[in-house]
Amino acid sequence: MVGPRVRFAPSPSGYLHIGGARTALFNWLWARRHGGKFIIRIEDTDQDRSSIESVRAILDALEWLGLDWDEGPEVGGPHEPYFQSERRDAYARAVETLIGSGHAYRCYCSKEELDAARAALKAKDAKAQFRYPGTCRDRTDRPDKPFVVRFKSPTEGATDFSDLVFGTVSTPNASQQDFVLVRPNGYPLYNLSCVVDDHEMGITTVARGRDHIGNTPQQVMLYRAFGWDVPELAHLPMMLSAKGDKLSKRHAAVSVREYRERGYTPNAVLNYLARFGWSYGDQEIFEKAELVELFDWKRVGKSDGKFDENKFADVAFEHLKEERLTSAEHYAAWIAPFLEGAGIRPDRELLEKALPLVRPRARTLAEAANALDFFFRETPELDDKAKKKFLTPEAVPYLQALRTVLGDSPAWEEEPLERRFREWVESEGLKMKQVAQPLRVALTGRTASPGLFEVMLVLGRDKTLERLEGAIRVASGG
Ligand code: GLU
Repeated sequence: MVGPRVRFAPSPSGYLHIGGARTALFNWLWARRHGGKFIIRIEDTDQDRSSIESVRAILDALEWLGLDWDEGPEVGGPHEPYFQSERRDAYARAVETLIGSGHAYRCYCSKEELDAARAALKAKDAKAQFRYPGTCRDRTDRPDKPFVVRFKSPTEGATDFSDLVFGTVSTPNASQQDFVLVRPNGYPLYNLSCVVDDHEMGITTVARGRDHIGNTPQQVMLYRAFGWDVPELAHLPMMLSAKGDKLSKRHAAVSVREYRERGYTPNAVLNYLARFGWSYGDQEIFEKAELVELFDWKRVGKSDGKFDENKFADVAFEHLKEERLTSAEHYAAWIAPFLEGAGIRPDRELLEKALPLVRPRARTLAEAANALDFFFRETPELDDKAKKKFLTPEAVPYLQALRTVLGDSPAWEEEPLERRFREWVESEGLKMKQVAQPLRVALTGRTASPGLFEVMLVLGRDKTLERLEGAIRVASGG
């Protein structure tokens, strides 16, 4: 059996919104689960709002998320071009077909005329909903005036469709008007270009945000007028702010890129988004492969959800903690740009040794990179306060003694190092904190770090002793 053909059809007027990423994800999961095709189509017919930078930003975000596409920009495919601005001939042909079959007509009513009719209606009844009165419906002349093309909507009965999430949706035709298909400048409107492309690209399932469900009856009418099969339809619940309005950047970070910069892994983002509208029992944490295996429209709910930044952060943390969710190899690859941003070109072997020390604590890759920083520098960057408080002349004899105690350890392993350290502290009648903090600052430059002996192990004998010597110089004022 041939798998489903699904698409993600962004309008490139900004960045990839996390709500859009969720739509892309559900489509991608469906294609991957059933060996189908995931197609990207750029809906850029609104020339004023579309930009090539935005196309780039959206594609970069999809690539980073690992939502690879089988057809579309960059990869091409049998239905090229995948930019609607380059497909205008197809829409023009389709419109001629509809006019020819009596399903559409040219409307010469000017904006002023329609505005006046609307105002007259509102004057009679302020609550009345203005609908195009059908003035040009049966017109056969072709005056030399600008025109739009309108669809001749049925006036009786209802337009029904079956939605994989919302079930049967029935809309009385009397509530529809003769909607516009083509603007006076010849540009197609969304409903027309969307239907023509979904049909020509062989899309079998159209899944998109519920905010488009109001367009769907019109699209279904178009399919029927063309004599084409209506694809399967799935509308996805909306992502709302904590207050219940449409989620925007006034409420939270909404661009995928911001989560990337914050140091969330792509799979953590996918995990949080998957749970947005889809569920599998009460399981919260999923591997990417698990999502592919389990995803089903049947488990997509109808209720809109509230975007929860704290929960998102917890999911991101969980992914960094668990080797099962983020392998050492992936962790190393994803943290690299953060370390590079701090001027560090991490040695891969050292990085893989150091990772287990931060894994249980770092909530983001940015935090992890910061926590690992000292491992990779020739000498750790000394925190000013830490230096003043702990690398003092009083600490010098302790640091000197420690250099010997640790340096003479027969084996550079956690257990003997710790034992020698403790025995020495006891024999000198010292308190742990008198020496542990100066030692920590000597090795890491800061007062908070992973366990001291773990750090020593990763640094190795030579670097540990070198750093102790450096700290002795600093503490002696040299
Ligand atoms: N370009 C539309 C949007 O970005 C796509 C809607 C659809 O998937 O049909 O909302």
